[in-house]
Amino acid sequence: MRAAVAREFGKPLEFDDRVVPLPHGFEALVRVEYTGVCHTDLHAVGGDWPVKPALPFVPGHEGVGRVVAVGHEVTSLKVGDRVGNAWLWSACGECEYCTSGRETLCPVQRNSGYTVDGSFQDYMLVDSRYAARIPESLDPARVAPILCAGVTVYKGLKTTGARPGQWVVVSGIGGLGHLAVEYAVAMGLDVVAVDVADSKLVLARELGATFTVNAAKTDAAAEIQREIGGAHGVLVTAPSEAAVAQAVRMARRGGTISLVGLPSGTFPVSVFDTVLNGLTIKGSIVGTRGDLAEALDLAARGKVHATVTKHPFADVNRVLDDMRDGRILGRVVLELAGDLAREEAGYPTRQFANA
Ligand code: NAD
Ligand code: ZN
Ligand code: ZN
Repeated sequence: MRAAVAREFGKPLEFDDRVVPLPHGFEALVRVEYTGVCHTDLHAVGGDWPVKPALPFVPGHEGVGRVVAVGHEVTSLKVGDRVGNAWLWSACGECEYCTSGRETLCPVQRNSGYTVDGSFQDYMLVDSRYAARIPESLDPARVAPILCAGVTVYKGLKTTGARPGQWVVVSGIGGLGHLAVEYAVAMGLDVVAVDVADSKLVLARELGATFTVNAAKTDAAAEIQREIGGAHGVLVTAPSEAAVAQAVRMARRGGTISLVGLPSGTFPVSVFDTVLNGLTIKGSIVGTRGDLAEALDLAARGKVHATVTKHPFADVNRVLDDMRDGRILGRVVLELAGDLAREEAGYPTRQFANA
């Protein structure tokens, strides 16, 4: 099978011909149909973060496919089920975080495409206890981005505590941010979209943002304070320290800034403003299996539709370059088995208008 492998940080992925692995214990083997490409894959391949993945590794944590084999302990999945690999590949299930609904903080968690080989390959292993169940009604290409981008922003928006009718800023309208606009609208929030590219802001307006600000052209925080008196919640998806520093100034008094974008650096915060304005600054990391089930359910009920462009798997390095240069609108989804696998497995092949 084909596997796109990171062998050296900062270098293009190399295509290897690998032996299809066998599932053991609670593992299931999945034939990958589609996988989203997340900016986290770019950070992983670049070795950007303080905790680096061990080389070589296969990136990818928005993979969708059908189960083709299961380990002997698997009871919750069967051959033919459509599942996804989320960033949270597995957790211990026993620590203080796992037992209190905070499994994404488990200190011994394993992560798809980082500490466990991910979905940039024809077949991937998932842990049946943590794999996402994909509703059959959903187009597998368009559901892929929900597995990381969707659940992350859905959880991040909940983390702001903003209530229906209140204002939320989404800073960074990329793979995560465009879905954040849709989840926020579905949650009854009024959205201000911020990006540095006008094309992203056009998409944000199409998806329901009330107004948009180009942070490259104007002091976005000053404009948001002037227009709405600051937002109740601010969700920062931009992989930019400058965007984080600016986002703190976009909140209204008592507001919460939820950080999900992961630039590796630091940002300055005014202690005085934080105290006097009663601000809360929180980090938010992906979502639990429960959050993911909710995020998928909202997609299955037609409230969010990822904007995706399909590319052949062979294009993966070009897609990573495009992402680095900010040229992607919405999410790119790589096609691995795609329709072919559905036909081979005896499932009907369907066409989706916008996929
Ligand atoms: P992306 O490349 O698709 O989108 C990033 C967007 O940010 C682009 O539209 C870009 O134009 C915009 N941007 C860049 N600089 C900006 C600035 N100064 N102000 C406003 N917008 C700006 O990336 P993505 O896949 O959406 O991922 C975004 C970040 O989120 C990455 O750092 C990724 O690692 C991180 N991430 C975090 C989690 C988590 O659980 N916390 C999960 C997934 C991804
Ligand atoms: Zn991701
Ligand atoms: Zn744990």
